[in-house]
Amino acid sequence: MSELQRLTALTLSLQDRLSLDVLLQRIVDGAAALLDTPRVSVRLLDPTRTRLLATCRAGASLHLNPGSEFQLGEGLIGWIAKESQPIRTGEAANDPRYVSRADIKEPMRSFLGVPLISGHACMGVLSALHPEPDHFEERHQELLTLLAGICAPHVEVARLQRLSQIDPLTGALNRRGLELAFPDGEGAMPAPVSVIMADVDLFKRINDAYGHAIGDEVLKRVTQLLSGVMRARDAVIRWGGEEFLLILPRVGLAMAARVAERARSAVEKGGIEAAGVQIAMTISLGVAERSDGESRDTVIKHADNALYLAKHNGRNRVAVADRRSS
Ligand code: GH3
Ligand code: MG
Ligand code: MG
Repeated sequence: MSELQRLTALTLSLQDRLSLDVLLQRIVDGAAALLDTPRVSVRLLDPTRTRLLATCRAGASLHLNPGSEFQLGEGLIGWIAKESQPIRTGEAANDPRYVSRADIKEPMRSFLGVPLISGHACMGVLSALHPEPDHFEERHQELLTLLAGICAPHVEVARLQRLSQIDPLTGALNRRGLELAFPDGEGAMPAPVSVIMADVDLFKRINDAYGHAIGDEVLKRVTQLLSGVMRARDAVIRWGGEEFLLILPRVGLAMAARVAERARSAVEKGGIEAAGVQIAMTISLGVAERSDGESRDTVIKHADNALYLAKHNGRNRVAVADRRSS
């Protein structure tokens, strides 16, 4: 395929309204093919425009991805985002803007990065690495710039849509994100699928004892701990004030119950320290697996009923939906 054919194919493949994750993946794959290097990444600025986040996957949100994150202005990638200008270098480590980072072990010699611009603002950076020096030529830079221009409006739409599905306090998905994480309707989500409803125990007491701001910190920490026990394809949704819905595709009831137990234990062990005091918290969880033909609302209701049982039986525990009595 010629470069023009590749670009055309990619342009067409971006035309269906894609979720941010799928869109970014297509862009990265398209750019890798175009530039003849497997190492391409796209980083988007977070809503506060200070951090460049590496990926945006469902559930673990924009805020919860500390790995290979750059600050605005930091290193080659941060410079591109700050200045809205490209960088092409045949020996990255020789560039004065380069910073070496212990957490990023990619052998990088050649580097090419361009800004993703929407309107006048830089939204993020599309960049490529190559393990050999002097790999990228002027032609590659033109191609990547063109690609970024084609992609930018699509990224902007998907980014805003994603932003509307994220809870600003915790970074978890909000209820609008449910459709993304658990599409309803016949065959939209292959069996098995399990859900877990988790609720912070006696959270009102935490608020009353330490104040609302520390209560907020507890919610953030709980979100982090929940995300920590989930796989990439799972989702954490902030369902209500201190209530979280976890969606586990391709997970049956027994495995979901084990995940719930891991979550319970992680939260129990993972308190926060605020204002010099150690604050402990626990959660209760209800687990349910969707049965054949059951609606999304129904399986969530079953998880909710199980949660009620866990609370009733003393909190800080997991209850599994009993389908015989319902
Ligand atoms: P239980 O173990 O039965 O769940 O007891 P609980 O105290 O957790 O339950 P309850 O529903 O009585 O209290 C939930 C509290 O969560 C009440 C509400 O003020 C608080 N809350 C809801 N949203 C937020 C929030 O965004 N931030 C903070 N700090 N508190 C919140
Ligand atoms: Mg509660
Ligand atoms: Mg509650």
